Amino acid sequence: MDTKIITIKAPGGRLSEEDISGIQKAGEIIKNGGIVAFPTETVYGLGGDALSPESSKKIYAAKGRPSDNPLIVHISRIESLYEIAETVPDYAVKLAEVFWPGPLTMILKKKDIVPDETTGGLDTVAVRFPSDPVAKILINAAGGFVAAPSANISGRPSPTEAKYVIEDMNGRADAIIDGGGGEIGLESTIVDLTVQPPQILRPGFITSEMLGRVLGTEVETDKAIISPESGQKPRAPGMKYRHYAPRGELVIVEGENEAVVSGINEMIRSDKESGCRTGVMACDENAGRYDADVVKKTGPKGDQKEAAKRLYSILRSFDDEEVTKIYAESFEAEGFGEAIMNRLLKAAGHKIIKK
Ligand code: AMP
Ligand code: MG
Repeated sequence: MDTKIITIKAPGGRLSEEDISGIQKAGEIIKNGGIVAFPTETVYGLGGDALSPESSKKIYAAKGRPSDNPLIVHISRIESLYEIAETVPDYAVKLAEVFWPGPLTMILKKKDIVPDETTGGLDTVAVRFPSDPVAKILINAAGGFVAAPSANISGRPSPTEAKYVIEDMNGRADAIIDGGGGEIGLESTIVDLTVQPPQILRPGFITSEMLGRVLGTEVETDKAIISPESGQKPRAPGMKYRHYAPRGELVIVEGENEAVVSGINEMIRSDKESGCRTGVMACDENAGRYDADVVKKTGPKGDQKEAAKRLYSILRSFDDEEVTKIYAESFEAEGFGEAIMNRLLKAAGHKIIKK
């Protein structure tokens, strides 16, 4: 398949008439049953018509994604929610008013119009209204309902830049819209509103505290993703899969700062002796202190927004540099940090060393 690359002239800035018409043409591709990768404020999505079983099948095939892992339906107007959700409880309306458009996905009972292929056979549907202007125009032009998982080959880190989308999806998607880098860098928060109290199935930029403040009730995170050793099955089917993983072995190192730095350097020495190419993911303050072959900076210590934005491109760059052993400094799992640690732990297959 020939993949058309559509480049937005001023990503993040004012869209020109030419940009808008390019995005609208891409929307037509989706409307006609094709699949198109596009930027959002979280990560790049791979979009198809959410109401067409054939389009959803194409998305699964392009990603190599297991078909029991449902897709998020992206909309471009709050009212569209009522067309695909059987019931829209008051608290969904409240959350939509505060957090949409934005990085929040809500799980609700689905209407029959949403095919089983899109929801992986579930009777619920995941819905999000993204804020990225390119995404909004695309969804509108595509008919209003775009199923879009992250635009990576299943299992790899989600793409935060068009070059990574091209790496994974060239020849697999009908078109790719290059719209620069996203603001957030991690996938949306998923909140299940079919249970009481609502539950977070995947942490993200919108934290449980932020949701709790709006709803006036405590919002917990699915226990199975906090402690995978619990043996429970995550309620978001996708969270059970190994994910975001670089090709090299990744280990998280946790502890007091000086112990972490000296501990990692010690391990690097012995890895080098056994012929490994080593890498470290460290905060700016520590980066210069490591003797690894490749050191990637996550931003100033404690800057969660910067670390989240850089995480997936750092994980991919270790692949580009053929690193075989990677150490990551750990992050505080507070606030947005819960999402960073969730992705990092999955990428590391939960390998964590305490120093
Ligand atoms: P991605 O599209 O790659 O961001 O992944 C979407 C995530 O949403 C996966 O973890 C899915 O399992 C989850 N998801 C989508 N629809 C539902 C649903 N109806 N119920 C629970 N989880 C869902
Ligand atoms: Mg994904």
